[in-house]
Amino acid sequence: MTWKTELRERVTTGAALGAHISLSDDEARQIDSVARLFPMAIPQYYLSLMDKSDPFCPIRRQSVPDIRETVVQPGEFEDPLGEEPDSPVPAITHRYPDRALFLVTHRCFMFCRHCNRRRKVGDARASLPLNDAAIDDGLRYLRAEKSIEDVLVSGGDPLILDTERLDWILSRLREIPHVRTVRIGTRAPVVMPSRITDHLVAVLKKASPLWLNTHFNHPKELTPESTSALAKLADAGIPLGNQTVLLRGVNDCPSIIRELCVTLVAHRVRPYYLFQCDLAQGIAHFRTRISTGLEIMESMIGHVRSYAVPTFAIDPPGGAGKVPILPNYLISQSDSAVVVRNYEGVITKYFESSAGPSECGSGCSCRGNSEQGQRHRDAGQSVAAMLDRSGPVSLVPQGNARELRRSKRSSD
Ligand SMILES: *Cc1c(COP(=O)(O)O)cnc(C)c1O
Ligand code: SF4
Repeated sequence: MTWKTELRERVTTGAALGAHISLSDDEARQIDSVARLFPMAIPQYYLSLMDKSDPFCPIRRQSVPDIRETVVQPGEFEDPLGEEPDSPVPAITHRYPDRALFLVTHRCFMFCRHCNRRRKVGDARASLPLNDAAIDDGLRYLRAEKSIEDVLVSGGDPLILDTERLDWILSRLREIPHVRTVRIGTRAPVVMPSRITDHLVAVLKKASPLWLNTHFNHPKELTPESTSALAKLADAGIPLGNQTVLLRGVNDCPSIIRELCVTLVAHRVRPYYLFQCDLAQGIAHFRTRISTGLEIMESMIGHVRSYAVPTFAIDPPGGAGKVPILPNYLISQSDSAVVVRNYEGVITKYFESSAGPSECGSGCSCRGNSEQGQRHRDAGQSVAAMLDRSGPVSLVPQGNARELRRSKRSSD
């Protein structure tokens, strides 16, 4: 079966799903009612991985609508990552100094129940703005913004585009001299590995240096089909990464994440991020405590080969972007030593260099108040810039009451 046939034959109704897994009529109706809020579309392949009778099956939880999705809790957002204000044109989210997201479609192979882009993905109205004109606007923006050296092609799922269309977009990106690397974020290897055709691989290889990040959440997803798709990509020399979302009742357990990550490494995929579930509406039942993520990190760092250890990150609302969080390894410090602990709890000290602070080599000016230094530190507005003698003394929140009083006094 070709991937396009597979797309057409996805399971989209409770009745159709009932032919594959045990569902009561009530359950089938409930699925349809939730799917009116955020559609259901399960590829036959992914469905084949599902336990037919276990409602707690991790494959089922990620793909079958749950009545709890209709519940919106306080503190949840329609746009949890605050992406809209950072979108200069509809196809672009430009948040960080050197890289940008390029959204080329709102369509996906499967609608993941935990999706944080629910407001766009699967919404027929929202898919209208990403037409050819929007892609052209996005390319124009990327051409004009010389600071963007890395473009993350995302969506939706970019690999759902026709291979020729994708080839065209990637070729346009490769023509932009300041774009040094391109990345693709896709769930195709996980939910529709048949999409990884020889033709597609050739197109991706041609766009080198291109990195591909996929989205495995559970060891059950690493099947002969998905791992042979990964092998095709790796054999073509495409560096592979994986972003996992920590999901309650799916993978919120140190041994599951550990097994997932070491198996990914064995298939030449580097675990990249482990994400705390975003504060998107309707996914409260998937959200773990942040301490769960920290517990998982504690159980992995040092215990497991480090290239199997992802970065645990949260993306708090308001558009601050990703924030990595770690257990504490630094216990204390003085001028002469730092005290650290290792994964076993052994506490040791490391002597500070007596040679004074580091200086860059001749010709480098990234420390200090040079133009280049400023650029690297994002025009003086970052914690990194504060580390410089000439950088800001403090970063003050907008609307800080004390600052407002001060400026009022000075204008009186
Ligand atoms: C995640 C993200 C990126 C990429 O960030 P990395 O940490 O480099 O993977 C870029 N732009 C936006 C808006 C993002 O959310
Ligand atoms: S593939 Fe990504 S964008 Fe698409 S539904 Fe799943 S999580 Fe959302």
